[in-house]
Amino acid sequence: MVRPDNLSNEAEFSPILSSLKDIHAKYRQNTGGKIATYIPELAKADPNLFGIALVTADGQLYKVGDTEHLFTIQSISKPFVYGFALEDHGIEHVLGKVGVEPTGEAFNSIVFDERRNRPFNPMVNAGAIATTALIKGADHDQRWSRLLDKFSTFAGRPLDIDHAVYVSERATGHRNRAIGYLELNFGMVDEPITEHLDLYFEQCSILVSARDLAVMAATLANNGINPISGKRALETRYVKNVLSIMHSCGMYDYAGEWSYRIGLPAKSGVGGGIIAVLPGQFGIGTFSAPLDEQGNSARGIQVCEELSDHFKFHMFKSRTTTVVVVRRTYRGDTIRSKRHRGFPLPIGRRTREHLPYNQRQLAAPAIEHHQPRPGIRRIGVA
Ligand code: GLN
Repeated sequence: MVRPDNLSNEAEFSPILSSLKDIHAKYRQNTGGKIATYIPELAKADPNLFGIALVTADGQLYKVGDTEHLFTIQSISKPFVYGFALEDHGIEHVLGKVGVEPTGEAFNSIVFDERRNRPFNPMVNAGAIATTALIKGADHDQRWSRLLDKFSTFAGRPLDIDHAVYVSERATGHRNRAIGYLELNFGMVDEPITEHLDLYFEQCSILVSARDLAVMAATLANNGINPISGKRALETRYVKNVLSIMHSCGMYDYAGEWSYRIGLPAKSGVGGGIIAVLPGQFGIGTFSAPLDEQGNSARGIQVCEELSDHFKFHMFKSRTTTVVVVRRTYRGDTIRSKRHRGFPLPIGRRTREHLPYNQRQLAAPAIEHHQPRPGIRRIGVA
């Protein structure tokens, strides 16, 4: 599989990279937060390691700091497994088993949607265990190898697990086991519950780097196709479901404020990773082990907030101007616009100042649906 370890010339001189470097330098000394200590292996993490990677939807990589350091994916596995469960069963079946409502509670809280007899959402442990229980396969080995293959396609390289983390997740995961058995008792999941829990502990123990996370996030930004390997990792029709659930529930009891401030679908893990996605544009992967009170990487949150602020990434930032509306009509009437069918051109392939320009591109998906209106004067488009 293709693995771009070095930056291209284009990335080297890009304003995106220089901004990432500035942000990295600004927060490097900030080691606030606490490393997860619920298992000894995670407590060994170095609080100084800090990496930021951004991969565009056309595969341009930008990275700064410790982006090759491997750590366990933990809860960032949850949205991906949710996507695989959708592929295995379709939306209606999965919705019957796991809801899509935020809990406003911590990731490991023991709360269920009693009215619908299902966990609230797949981003908290209760929902994630029920989601993993849906992954098909004849036995544990087949289910696990399917899962690991799918994760590897997302990352664009063969992934593996940290065995020491897996063994202690399994040995100490009494709360998760309690959640799983409660779900079995309520009829929310079926047997074999020990196998489902094992798979859950394994998926949490997959080793990734910040760069891997950025590629995985960019694959979501690119409609489910890994932009570097060109391989499909998730059926396009489910990408929006995965991103929606990340948007509403990905940051646990910080999800509301995250969406308010940063405005990108995202997911964090107690290993210190965060992914964030701007659909059609790019994916971000950050790594820094110290966590805030909600269990999200403290520096990762600061980085994403600063990036979102600086580049105006917030999804609900209005990007429509009168000029864009007229331009929309013009472009819908030309052959040239068909080259951008489906989603806008990713930011990486543009001229030097990509990001401000990005705002115009974000209006592009609407183009295909606009019939040219007679009487609108054609205006020049660069
Ligand atoms: N392995 C952890 C758990 O299940 C994952 C939680 C997380 O990353 N928030 O408790």
